[in-house]
Amino acid sequence: MRHDIRAMILGIAQDGGVPHPGCFCDTCQFHWDNQIVLSPSSLAIIDEKQLHLIDVTRNLDRQLRKVGDRQVTDIWLTHGHVGHIDGIGLFGKEVMNANNVKLHASKSMIELIRSTPKWNELIENNILIPSQFNSNDSIQISEYLVITPIQIPHRDELTDTHAFVVKGPEKSVLYLPDHDSWEETLDFVSQDSVIDWFEFLGVEIVFLDGTFWSKNELSRQNDVPHPPVVDSLERLGNLNGKELEVFFFHFNHTNPLLIPKSDEIKQLLDSGCKIPIEGQQFLL
Ligand SMILES: [Zn+2]
Ligand SMILES: [Zn+2]
Ligand SMILES: [Zn+2]
Repeated sequence: MRHDIRAMILGIAQDGGVPHPGCFCDTCQFHWDNQIVLSPSSLAIIDEKQLHLIDVTRNLDRQLRKVGDRQVTDIWLTHGHVGHIDGIGLFGKEVMNANNVKLHASKSMIELIRSTPKWNELIENNILIPSQFNSNDSIQISEYLVITPIQIPHRDELTDTHAFVVKGPEKSVLYLPDHDSWEETLDFVSQDSVIDWFEFLGVEIVFLDGTFWSKNELSRQNDVPHPPVVDSLERLGNLNGKELEVFFFHFNHTNPLLIPKSDEIKQLLDSGCKIPIEGQQFLL
């Protein structure tokens, strides 16, 4: 019998979500007027007994509601930027009053939590039980589930940054919401091309940093570097007919991929790439 492990995408927006706090641009206003909320990036891994949550956002309620009536058993954190971690306080006494949730994070990430009094309280009260991982060391979760953290170059102001490869019984997924540039990432992982790297990782499904469509979307974009989607599309080539599925996500509110029926959406779909829907599931 097939062992049922699913990945569910729970957020496709950048850290601020959409609508974006304090912003009244056409995209934010369109989403507000139509009561559409896009949550910051997060991925659930749903096993028979366990529920793993990669990145914990302030939209935790609406995100977990998509999974159904299940308790989170494990948390995995990519890095310390606000949208990826600001939901962890919700596990505390004031809200969920959880206990013994395993917190998988890097050394610097655990140090940040330990040195932030309000978050350290979660560890002191056994709400979160820290479990430090090392880059590239695979962690065997169960007979059918392996998770591997992969260090990625990204503005490391307070912590380092990791992507995760989640390997199920039949398929593997890469979750990579943030990185600074393909040049730095490929150099760091010693690979010549994006496709080579995905092949090396053995992944069939990729959730990829799609923060900005192009280079000059934001006046302060140089301060918050991400590879523009146009750059990633060029490196990926045409994926039509290929087994590899690439889903862009972590969209900033300025990204034209958030404008219904935009030319940019057409260009992305024509190249064989995809945009996920929050709540969409993938059998691993
Ligand atoms: Zn982010
Ligand atoms: Zn906006
Ligand atoms: Zn970030």
